[in-house]
Amino acid sequence: MSVAASLGLTSPVRDLPKVGPADATRLAKLGIVTVRDLLLHLPFGWDEYGEPSAVANLADGKQATVIGTLASISAKRSMRKGLALTEATLRDDSGDVLRLVWFHQPYLVNQLHKGDRIAVAGMVKGRFGVFEMRNPLQEKVDGAGPKRIRDLMPRYHLVNGLSSKKIGGWIELVLPLARELDDVLPADVRDRQHLLPVAEAVRQGHRPDSEANWRDARRRMAFAELFELQAAFALMRVGMAAEPAEPIPYRQEVIDSFKAGLGFELTTAQRRSAWQAFQDMAQVAPMNRLLNGDVGSGKTAVAAACVAMAHSAGLQSVVMAPTEILARQHLHKFRAYLEDSFPGLTVELLVSGQSAPERRRVRSAAASGHCALVVGTHALIEEAVEFANLGLAVVDEQHRFGTRQRELLRSKGTGRPHFLAMTATPIPRTLALALYGEMAVSVIDEMPPGRTPVETEVVAPPERQHAYELVRAQVAMGRQAFVICPLIEESEALVARSATAEFERLGKEVFPDLRMGLVHGRLRAKDEVMDAFVKGETQVLVATAVVEVGVDVPNATAMMIEGAERFGLAQLHQFRGRVGRGPGRSYCLLLSDDPSVTTLERLSLLTRIRDGFRLAEEDLRIRGMGELMGPRQHGMSDVAMQALEQPELLSEVRQEAERVLRDDPGFERHPALRAAVDRRLEQTSIS
Ligand code: ADP
Ligand code: MG
Repeated sequence: MSVAASLGLTSPVRDLPKVGPADATRLAKLGIVTVRDLLLHLPFGWDEYGEPSAVANLADGKQATVIGTLASISAKRSMRKGLALTEATLRDDSGDVLRLVWFHQPYLVNQLHKGDRIAVAGMVKGRFGVFEMRNPLQEKVDGAGPKRIRDLMPRYHLVNGLSSKKIGGWIELVLPLARELDDVLPADVRDRQHLLPVAEAVRQGHRPDSEANWRDARRRMAFAELFELQAAFALMRVGMAAEPAEPIPYRQEVIDSFKAGLGFELTTAQRRSAWQAFQDMAQVAPMNRLLNGDVGSGKTAVAAACVAMAHSAGLQSVVMAPTEILARQHLHKFRAYLEDSFPGLTVELLVSGQSAPERRRVRSAAASGHCALVVGTHALIEEAVEFANLGLAVVDEQHRFGTRQRELLRSKGTGRPHFLAMTATPIPRTLALALYGEMAVSVIDEMPPGRTPVETEVVAPPERQHAYELVRAQVAMGRQAFVICPLIEESEALVARSATAEFERLGKEVFPDLRMGLVHGRLRAKDEVMDAFVKGETQVLVATAVVEVGVDVPNATAMMIEGAERFGLAQLHQFRGRVGRGPGRSYCLLLSDDPSVTTLERLSLLTRIRDGFRLAEEDLRIRGMGELMGPRQHGMSDVAMQALEQPELLSEVRQEAERVLRDDPGFERHPALRAAVDRRLEQTSIS
């Protein structure tokens, strides 16, 4: 049609007919801005309705397609909730009737009329010949049979306000443009791996002729995306190796003094991780390592050992944390770990909350080479901090910073400093390779001894009162509590609003006598609120998922997580890591609005499993890769995420990418790949 003729791959989706401004905003939330993005947004699954069947052959709980004539249709409001209902009856060719109900679609009465011949598809409910479909897909049928409703109906990844049907309609319009897509996969790679050309894969990915074709299409799209990512990592590695770092030789006596001053024994996992980092730092090529370990696993001590090693080589270090409170906590830990054992090793703090003269003093201590370690926040990159000889840059909670911010931190040295990133998000190995392919990964998969496990309980809605009582009892004992608000994907404004409402409700109805705090991403005084909690001035802190920072509040012993079913297990586990940091017994209460058996089973895993990596693996098994990382945190499509569930694929991708890179190091002879890689490197979501 003319739509395809007037649009190109780079046209914004809002130029498509029937895409209003609200739709465009919704699509943007899915990462879909251009027609190209839309084409690459493949459905994640299919509803199988099968061949049209007669009403007499329907079965309760099964998907089906039925073709018939509308015997009646009318709009209503439900008595109880004022819902807009559209009710209809469909008569099939043998005269049997099927009841239809649609919610929230009052406009249907203008589109469908008595006597129309339509096809409907959906889940069947009922028995003894009396059947009903709720919110079925519907389509008018003339002559041959339904065009859009077929055996296989695509299911797209959605946000509120969009439907698979809507997206399917837009896809239909732009599908002819698939032939204009450049193929990032070199032809020889495609041949070797038996992969479809891109245009064919996109067509089959959206409108497959068979399930087998759909699988082939997805394999090809996933392969290409992972290939692109690995190629981007390869380019990053080459670029980094070209800027040498100062090698930091390993010295046993440094480690001996470090251990002597610690006051505890390092765990095996900590020793292994530190050793891996020491080996990297001894090279001319800069270290680029991710330290992945559960909350409380002792990442800071590993980083401190690296700082000590750098110091012994006459080099300075910098540590950047996402918030001021965290930076202050780091300051104390690094001082405790280092200052006694290494006389002359001074640790300073730089955050924007300090007075101007104090900041000036720290800046000059860094610039003169006088202080060995500066710990700070974004202030480190925002203010013109310079170092005499920076040898090591460390970033904590690295997912909270963009690539650019990390790059800025690394540019503080004369050459390139060695780089250590820390994260508490437990990720399975394949995923780490796919997401952080330019980094080496150390895993701390062991907890220091002597921790009391957090008592975790799933609380069904009728027992909510019990959760409040537990919080109250803890507070009465002088302890503190967190209340985590449910995840809302819509917008940060909405998250803030719902957290504020919950804060007010709790303050009025549940804990009117307790001192409460509220913190969410939109709040300017975040640090002050957190600070009041750290100091024990507030007793109950209501927080959104946005502020899941690694703050240490040993006196906090209870946590309630509302809408727990909306979070991944690994994320819940991370929240839980906020309590149980002191000697007292701690509690984590998971509240769910959807107490279905599957939800309860999934959540109950948290009551039994305490290892974040195992929980991440369980999440992967139950919900798949895509869900594991939360929506679009990772800059990878769910097609690629899902493909990672077969680890062989990634190793094939890596081999192919390395092969191409060997023959053509800058991808000059592969312009489509180069362009795609450049697009990716520009996005901050990478790595
Ligand atoms: P995270 O990995 O979450 O950053 P931290 O480095 O903050 O963890 O360590 C959490 C707590 O455990 C700190 O109080 C730290 O001093 C302590 N710790 C770290 N390593 C050990 C160990 N090997 N034995 C005992 N305690 C340890
Ligand atoms: Mg930490």
